[in-house]
Amino acid sequence: MAIERIVDTRDHEEDADEQIIEVTLRPRTFSDYVGQDRLKKNLKLAIDAAKKRSEPLDHILLNGPPGLGKTTMATVIANEMGKSIRVTSGPAIEKAGDLASILTNLQDGDILFIDEIHRLGRAVEEVLYAAMEDYKLDIMIGKGPAARSVRLDLPKFTIIGATTRAGALAAPLRDRFGHIYRLEFYAPDEISQIILRAASILGNEIDEASAKTLSTRARLTPRIANRLLKRVRDYADVNGDGIIDTVMTKKALELLEIDELGLDPGDRNLLTHMIENYGSEPVGLNTLAALTGDETTTIEDFYEPYLLQIGFIERTPRGRRATPKAYKHMGKTPDKKDDSKNYGLFHNDLFED
Ligand code: ADP
Repeated sequence: MAIERIVDTRDHEEDADEQIIEVTLRPRTFSDYVGQDRLKKNLKLAIDAAKKRSEPLDHILLNGPPGLGKTTMATVIANEMGKSIRVTSGPAIEKAGDLASILTNLQDGDILFIDEIHRLGRAVEEVLYAAMEDYKLDIMIGKGPAARSVRLDLPKFTIIGATTRAGALAAPLRDRFGHIYRLEFYAPDEISQIILRAASILGNEIDEASAKTLSTRARLTPRIANRLLKRVRDYADVNGDGIIDTVMTKKALELLEIDELGLDPGDRNLLTHMIENYGSEPVGLNTLAALTGDETTTIEDFYEPYLLQIGFIERTPRGRRATPKAYKHMGKTPDKKDDSKNYGLFHNDLFED
């Protein structure tokens, strides 16, 4: 996308200062990590058991939309285990040799975090199977007739894989994870807590009402909550004395064109295309991408999860369609064919009219 979206759940190319802030804000322990209680409970148990048996933690797959805290959770786990973490991603490991050099440099109990693990190449994935299962690495030495396969012992490491699409993971890879968890969107009061925590780390005063306002506009996603806070903080620093109150918050949000549900011009454009061109009929992903000028993956990974969560679109076997809730928000009238009984699936009190 040409225009950087403030509500984009991806990591932006941020400057050095922003990156330092990012690291400072990242929770390091379970107690700093807000929400995801079921996940934390399960992981605490797994960590205690592994420590008690002096064994490495079983491999863990974290699944969920971007910005919900998968990378953060991997660093929390490493910290709680008292082990080192090495961070990489599916697309960064191009060849089986790249993976071999990463794995052979780990120590017993270390954690290897692989972001976007669904994007690993097939050849790399196959090496990973044996490595995850038996802590062995099969590598070919030499070329042609003289080539031979050598089996190396690896340290007893733990893979933490993160993916936005567990469905795209090859079944043999998925089966090698002992724990598979889905991260959920956060409740608004959890997002509020994250904002208050971040503001206090950044040294900015913020009142509860402003934190609450921001919490409903952050798409229930910590990464966006922190990003919104940083932009409102800039506004308050430039136009006031750095104190974030409701007036500063409202003005900054107006400037950012983020509405009361956290939708930005990109979301509204998508919904407008769906409503005006297709009414209550489903529209295919490729058609939608052609209409909005976005990549299909951008729509699937970044617009759609939140719009589904708040019940603004629904997926049908024939494509996506806008719901009456979306019509209402966009100030449009649904046509008669709409069947509203299907639309309560992602009910969330905050978003009830
Ligand atoms: P993901 O890996 O799922 O894309 P990240 O772990 O990079 O998401 O999270 C984005 C940012 O949001 C982190 O830098 C962190 O500051 C913040 N964050 C994520 N989860 C939490 C949480 N549970 N509590 C507080 N802050 C969080």
